[in-house]
Amino acid sequence: MGQGAPSGNFDAVVLGGGPAGLAASILMSGAGLKTACADPLFRQLRDRPDSFRDARTIALLQGAIRMLERIDVWPHMQARSAPLWVMRVEDHTERWPGAPAMDFRADELGDEPFGYNIPMPVIVGALWNRALACDNLELIDDAAAEINIGADAARLTLDSGRIISGRLLAAADGRNSPARKAAGIKVNRWAYDQTAIALTFTHELPHDDTSVEFHRPPGPFTIIPLPGDNSALVWVERPEEARRLMALDDEALAAIMQEHMHGRLGRITHIGPRNAFPVAGLTARDYAARRTALVGESAHVLPPIGAQGLNLGMRDAALLSELAAEAHRWDGDPGGSELIAEYDRRRRRDIFPRTAAVDFLNRSLLFGGFPPLQGLRALGLTALKSLPALRRGLMSQGLVPDEDLPAIMRRA
Ligand SMILES: Cc1cc2nc3c(=O)[nH]c(=O)nc-3n(C[C@H](O)[C@H](O)[C@H](O)COP(=O)(O)OP(=O)(O)OC[C@H]3O[C@@H](n4cnc5c(N)ncnc54)[C@H](O)[C@@H]3O)c2cc1C
Repeated sequence: MGQGAPSGNFDAVVLGGGPAGLAASILMSGAGLKTACADPLFRQLRDRPDSFRDARTIALLQGAIRMLERIDVWPHMQARSAPLWVMRVEDHTERWPGAPAMDFRADELGDEPFGYNIPMPVIVGALWNRALACDNLELIDDAAAEINIGADAARLTLDSGRIISGRLLAAADGRNSPARKAAGIKVNRWAYDQTAIALTFTHELPHDDTSVEFHRPPGPFTIIPLPGDNSALVWVERPEEARRLMALDDEALAAIMQEHMHGRLGRITHIGPRNAFPVAGLTARDYAARRTALVGESAHVLPPIGAQGLNLGMRDAALLSELAAEAHRWDGDPGGSELIAEYDRRRRRDIFPRTAAVDFLNRSLLFGGFPPLQGLRALGLTALKSLPALRRGLMSQGLVPDEDLPAIMRRA
């Protein structure tokens, strides 16, 4: 395998068609690069789109929403999304010193919400439909069996035996990324001994476009608005307790959820399907090397706190496409060493501090029985509550300042 002639030479090959890979494919093909995107998932999206299920909802911040608007994807998601105007953090660790409840309000920053909460199948479905309409994009429902990266191109042998090559390889093939391994990029990985349960539910009282992160010792219990009297839940627990909760019937689960929500949202009237995800951390030691750029979870995996994961993934996709389009225009090589170095440098600045901040927040809950850590959390939240300028500064950093965003994500 791998010795035959390529049956497709592309400017860019995107391996993996999850949300980050689909976004990168749409952007690169839209910029005039002849692009291929391969993922065995496409068979299901094409033949049985309604069977794609994922109980996660994803909070996408304004930068990602602006990008989706500009590639004409957002109008197909908007009706099934809910705006996030207030993000509330409540300390229920019962540890000393206690931390005050804290509201982060988008109207302190301007006249738009922080972002929108969108069901994952809606995101993937809308991106897939948009990708189908792209001129320069071939969608291949196959997996890469072998990847060889040479001086001039990356060459992929697919399960079918077909060989494709790309001058740039966008590795959007998830946390165990074969493309990352082929490029020789090492990662740091760690586990948290936590499981996140994701589900959606219907409730009696309005959510007022407010998400609430209840901080509990096993991890955050976060409710995030959806249209109408519906919300999503991301409930982080120790793995053994998560297994027990996953096995409960809806009525028993609703009773425990109501207890953890302290009366917020009133009675739970319906619970949707649930998924459980191991909570893990991963960061690549390089974000690009040898014609290969990491996009999405091949580059970074974070605990589900503060809605960072796919927002980072969308920024990976946007920056890579911007740099590739520019290189393609100037010298025709979208995978050259300058682009690789520039992408690595700029993504490092964004990914590294966010991974560290989310890791600190998660560990401060898990190991918060250790007084200095709890003290730091309490002090931080007290300072934020009493100092509006500090609060606004943190909120702007969380949203990423406009000048640090890829061009397609900036305000007009
Ligand atoms: C409970 C939970 C809640 C979350 N909430 C948020 C949130 O509110 N906001 C946020 O920004 N992020 C959130 N995240 C993170 C977000 O879900 C992830 O960042 C995102 O789903 C990752 O997308 P991806 O495209 O990088 O990877 P994936 O969706 O994993 O896609 C990788 C694709 O690569 C394909 N692939 C793998 N190997 C091959 C191969 N050899 N050949 C071809 N294709 C291959 C796979 O089939 C797959 O489709 C949350 C995560 C969890 C667990």
